[in-house]
Amino acid sequence: TDTNFDFDLIVIGAGYGGFDAAKHAAEKGLKVAIIESGDMGGTCVNKGCVPSKALLAASGKVREIANYEHLAKFGIHASPVRFERSKIADHANNLVSNVRENLTKTLKRSGVEIILGFGRLEGNQKVGVRDNNGIDRIFTCKNIVLATGSSPFVPPGITLDNRTVFTSDEAVKLEWLPRWIAIIGSGYIGLEFADVYTALGCEVTIIEALENIMPTFDPDITKIAKKNLIQSRDIDTKSNVFATKITPGCPVKIELTDAKSKEIVENLEVDGVLVATGRSPNSKNLNLDSVGIETIKGYIPIDDQMRVLNGEKIIPNVWAVGDVTGKLMLAHTAAAQGTIAVENICGENIEINYGSIPAATFTHPEISSVGLSETDAKEIASKEGFTLGVVKSYFKANSKALAELESDGILKLLFNKDSGKVLGAHIFGMHAADLIQEIANAISRNQDVMQLSTEVHTHPTLSEVVEVAYKQAASQVK
Ligand code: FAD
Repeated sequence: TDTNFDFDLIVIGAGYGGFDAAKHAAEKGLKVAIIESGDMGGTCVNKGCVPSKALLAASGKVREIANYEHLAKFGIHASPVRFERSKIADHANNLVSNVRENLTKTLKRSGVEIILGFGRLEGNQKVGVRDNNGIDRIFTCKNIVLATGSSPFVPPGITLDNRTVFTSDEAVKLEWLPRWIAIIGSGYIGLEFADVYTALGCEVTIIEALENIMPTFDPDITKIAKKNLIQSRDIDTKSNVFATKITPGCPVKIELTDAKSKEIVENLEVDGVLVATGRSPNSKNLNLDSVGIETIKGYIPIDDQMRVLNGEKIIPNVWAVGDVTGKLMLAHTAAAQGTIAVENICGENIEINYGSIPAATFTHPEISSVGLSETDAKEIASKEGFTLGVVKSYFKANSKALAELESDGILKLLFNKDSGKVLGAHIFGMHAADLIQEIANAISRNQDVMQLSTEVHTHPTLSEVVEVAYKQAASQVK
């Protein structure tokens, strides 16, 4: 600790990224402060992963018990399922408070000083904080980590009243269940809420501006996911249309415009609208100019060591992690970046490998992926001159999936046919979010499919879907 500074490290933002950085730095013996203007834990804990997964857990159970046809195949006959919306909401809210409390305690126990207020840069080694009472203080520090996260992006023309027209910030509270809800956007947040709402008896329409629904997912995964998550639930989809105007009220009025011709094609009236059209970085009012940061579409540019950049130049002592950097905007990415930033602050030279970070959508069944998309893999293969291998392994050939009567699933593995190196994987099916991890680990360890195909998997488990893919791939390596 350098006594010329108030702190060794000041972290702005106590989401997953900031939490990880602050805790890790304190454990390494640094004197650390973390500044938070909202709720400790940020998006993930308060409005993201934690409450949404609590809702999905409850709605998944409702779905399972209410799926009489499925149960009858086991010879089980259930009586009509009854649920209390408010109790499901309580489950999510209680979980949020518990996780938030634990996270705050953990930080305190690690010796991190928590400062409540809105932080901003005042140069490379100075941070200003304005608290809720308007009191402004300046602190000096050797290093700064920006971890200010992101907020829902709301396209122009859409007015929120946070009751009938709202974002995931409100949806996670499950304050009411619209009879008919329109979800704008078919990314992972839109899909997860479609899963919750349909399980709880709402009628859902998904509106997507791009040509196809689920545009960010692998096309083979989309095909099977559409059948299971959309068609089988009678979700109406409208793609290639912009919701150009949404007026809150009872009913909510939606004006839909053709994405290409820009002509109004439809007017809808629904009970509620969830706007799930992506996230925007929280990079305003941070006085970024004071150190020469120029954001790119609002995101703070960083290198693979989490150093903030101005063009090619490194801005000394300033680091950034998490959603505000725009890289694979997930909680575990933010945390991984937080650890790496601190290691590098302490003199290491560690770089992140985004190619081995998995992503999941926690619908029933789940969707997951890691590494390259097939399109990107094709492009890289032709640029680098190797042959791309693609194998598919099906849940319908897996004993565990068959025993569970959950055999609609697919794993697509992308690999280098010359070296056997794993490049990416995309999964749809039961427990896909857990299954992806072993492939992510293989990518991170730079293993090849010859080696991986010799690893023995437990029988009968879903992990054998991965084993089959590895074996198939190994047989194709030249
Ligand atoms: P945030 O969590 O956004 O935290 C930033 C914090 O900084 C906030 O608390 C904010 O109040 C504070 N802040 C901002 N500006 C200032 C300032 N100037 N001064 C002081 N404090 C400031 N990710 C997953 O990995 N798995 C999931 O299942 C998942 N589900 C999600 C579901 C939903 C509905 C949503 C919206 C997101 C989900 N995510 C999920 C994404 C995940 O929540 C984010 O990637 C993660 O929270 C990013 O962490 P962060 O630390 O970068 O930022």
